[in-house]
Amino acid sequence: MDLQTKIATLMEAIPAIKELKGKTVVVKFGGNAMINEEVKNAVLEDAVIMQALGMKVVLSHGGGPAINDMLGKLGIESEFIQGLRVTSKDVIDVVEMVLAGKVNGELVRRTIALGGKPVGVSGVSGRIYQCEKKQSEIDYGFVGEVVGVDGESLVALMDAGFIPIVAPIGADNQGNSYNINGDTAAAALASAVKADKLVVLTDIEGLCNDIKLRDVISYLNIKDVPALKEKGTIAGGMIPKVDSCVDAINSGVTSVHIMDGRQKHSLLFELFSKDSHGTVIGTEGESVGIKW
Ligand code: ADP
Ligand code: MG
Repeated sequence: MDLQTKIATLMEAIPAIKELKGKTVVVKFGGNAMINEEVKNAVLEDAVIMQALGMKVVLSHGGGPAINDMLGKLGIESEFIQGLRVTSKDVIDVVEMVLAGKVNGELVRRTIALGGKPVGVSGVSGRIYQCEKKQSEIDYGFVGEVVGVDGESLVALMDAGFIPIVAPIGADNQGNSYNINGDTAAAALASAVKADKLVVLTDIEGLCNDIKLRDVISYLNIKDVPALKEKGTIAGGMIPKVDSCVDAINSGVTSVHIMDGRQKHSLLFELFSKDSHGTVIGTEGESVGIKW
């Protein structure tokens, strides 16, 4: 890259840097986008840079693969129905240990190594996620429905210059722990801290018409969600993902974006350059890129 191109790249970022200063961004860091060590570090590095540039950042992580790994080692079975993990008592014990312990701890340590000031918490702390057992035709066990959220502790941490890193575990009033789908958790969090932006990093380019063709729907108006579910386009892990993006929008988050977390620094690139990738979700204008 020659000097002029480098300067142009830098100049392109300046309006966005000004605009995003003081804004609150919740980043959902998908389990499946966390497998690669380099990419994991790049996301944390991006969060540290965003904070250094004056943004308030919360990382809301998942950890599906780490849970599967530990369940495998312990010989405990679990299955997924419609993108959600069926969670027995044995499974929830493992989920809590892995998410609030291993995964959260590791992300905190890595962020410190990158020069950031993270505070790792489980969503039980500060009553961030108040849960009840999810009611549905399928018995998902200890899968929580988020019935209340409290972002006060996280806002205080951000105001004091920390980057909160939150594990998707909640509790009910009786003291039971619940597994919350990572996407559901991130959306609830975004509304709790009155986020300006929710960025959902995942392991695919965006919401596609056909996952084999990777033909990304670049803009999705939420009015088209029911039809895309009916059609089977929104399937598997995309069901809770898109549903929670819709919830975030309905609860006042203005900008919601599903993007590929496998590309290093995709987050910074998206925030600070004019190019856009992935799927932006909103309420205005017609969807772009849907093949009906
Ligand atoms: P994460 O850990 O990011 O939540 P998930 O596996 O839960 O990841 O969800 C992402 C997955 O959803 C993709 O890898 C893909 O297999 C699946 N999926 C189902 N339908 C679609 C679709 N229409 N477009 C993109 N991905 C889809
Ligand atoms: Mg998922």
